[in-house]
Amino acid sequence: MKIYNNIEQLREAIKNAERPIGLVPTMGFLHQGHLALINQAKKYNKTVIVTIFVNPTQFGPNEDYEKYPRDIDHDINLLKSLETNFVFIPERESLYTENHNTWVNVEKLDEKLEGHFRPNHFKGVATIVLKLLNITTPDNAYFGQKDAQQVQIIKQMVADLNLSIKINSIPTVREYDGLALSSRNVYLTKDERKSAKEIYQSLLLAQTLFEKGINNAEIIKKNVSDHIIKNIKNSKIDYVSITQESSLEDLQTIKDSALLSIAVHVGKTRLIDNLILSKK
Ligand code: AMP
Repeated sequence: MKIYNNIEQLREAIKNAERPIGLVPTMGFLHQGHLALINQAKKYNKTVIVTIFVNPTQFGPNEDYEKYPRDIDHDINLLKSLETNFVFIPERESLYTENHNTWVNVEKLDEKLEGHFRPNHFKGVATIVLKLLNITTPDNAYFGQKDAQQVQIIKQMVADLNLSIKINSIPTVREYDGLALSSRNVYLTKDERKSAKEIYQSLLLAQTLFEKGINNAEIIKKNVSDHIIKNIKNSKIDYVSITQESSLEDLQTIKDSALLSIAVHVGKTRLIDNLILSKK
């Protein structure tokens, strides 16, 4: 496994790398969710590149950029054990020079769901992802369905900008009790961690209601919100949304399937999760 901090050295190494190349962009503090992406990338590519970069431009002014969990040694050991080919760990200054003035805005999609609560988040995400795609020139890139809106935004960007890269999305990896793995789960206190499993339970409740024939989005959303408020102390819901999966447009009535998305504060920690509601 080769580790690069320098863009030019990585580019030089990639010139001789066997294709197809699979890219897995991460912010580090790696967990089984990230590993699922890397394993998928290994399956379908000759060369796998993992990037670790806590991207400052996707964090709002009052968000957790400074205290975002980091453990590079742990990450490197894990990546070694997976036989990752290249790891790219750039410095902030090499990706954002003082006169960085170019941004990627994926309009419309970036205003929905997370967009209401994190206004410049997706501008930061799309910009860094395009930069990483340009640097690593992959054939495939891998993203988690855990961040469903991010997947749609990246797909839209790749289509709109005519990039010749396949975007692959990987199912959410969960803890034994259903909580979606997230680097931010370490923020939870013991009690919060216990009750956080109710987020997934609320998604399953929605699926059960849909299977029973309830297709009115308002009714399902109300049941989900009530479940969270009742079962998670100190919770504050940012949104419970039922939308079409790719356009992220709100649905009143669910036909065959829909994306149910949740953002909820559990104490001081903001968590997101989602499920595709579908007829089994
Ligand atoms: P992050 O390091 O949180 O920016 O995540 C890097 C990539 O891993 C993103 O594409 C995420 O969607 C994906 N990811 C994060 N958590 C999970 C999970 N629990 N299951 C699957 N993929 C995940």
